[in-house]
Amino acid sequence: MVNTEILQAIQKECAEYNASLIAVSKNRPTADILALYDQGQRDFGENRVQELLPKSGVLPGDINWHLIGHLQKNKAKSVIPVATLIHSADSIALIELLDEWAVQSGRTIKILLQMHIAREENKYGFSGSEILQWLDEGGPALLKAVRICGLMGMATFTEDQNQIRKEFRQLRAFFDRVKREFWPDNKDFGVLSMGMSGDYKLALAEGSTMIRVGSALFS
Ligand SMILES: *Cc1c(COP(=O)(O)O)cnc(C)c1O
Repeated sequence: MVNTEILQAIQKECAEYNASLIAVSKNRPTADILALYDQGQRDFGENRVQELLPKSGVLPGDINWHLIGHLQKNKAKSVIPVATLIHSADSIALIELLDEWAVQSGRTIKILLQMHIAREENKYGFSGSEILQWLDEGGPALLKAVRICGLMGMATFTEDQNQIRKEFRQLRAFFDRVKREFWPDNKDFGVLSMGMSGDYKLALAEGSTMIRVGSALFS
C-alpha cells in the first residue's frame, strides 16, 4: 500500500530544497508504482536490472527509471536503452563498458559515480582518491557516450545522526571540489544523489539534490 500523504510531504520538502525525489520501487508490485504515478510521481528507482526491465515494459512510457543498485557487467548492455540515470557506476571498468555499449547502440547514457562514504566495508563505490586520480589522468575525456552527471553515496547504517551528517557533508564537499577543480564548465555535472527513508532530511540539509526514498512511501 502506498502512503500518499507521506509522498506529498516529501515532494514538498524536495521542492523547498530544489531537489528531486526518486521513489524506490524495488520489491514493490506494479500496482504500487501506478498508485504513486497517479499522484504525479515520475521518477522511480530499482536496484536490479532483472526487475527494472520487466517493470519498465509494462508501465507508462513517461516514467524515468533510475538504476540505483550494483550493475553486473553482463547486464550493462540491456539497461542502457531503459535507464534515465545509472546512480551506481562503481568501477572504471564498468564505466568503460557502458561507454562501449552506448556507442554501439548509438545512445548516450547518464551516470553518477558511486562513492564509498560509509564505514561498512561491504558497500560498493569509489574512494575520493580513486576519482581524483582518474580525473588527473584525464580518464573521463576518453569516454564518448557516457555523461558523468554527478555523485551518489550511501551513509553508514547507524542511529548516530552526527556520523550520517558528517558523511553527507564530506560527500557534498567532495562534489563541490570536483566541480570546482575539474568541471567548472560541465553543465552535466550537477547531481548529488544522497538520502534514503531514514536520513533524507539530513541529506537535504547537507546539500543533496536527489533523494532515493523507498520504504517511507509504503505502509
Ligand atoms: C533500497 C534503496 C534505497 C531506498 O531505501 P529506503 O530505506 O527503503 O528508503 C535507496 N538507495 C539504494 C541504493 C537502495 O538500494
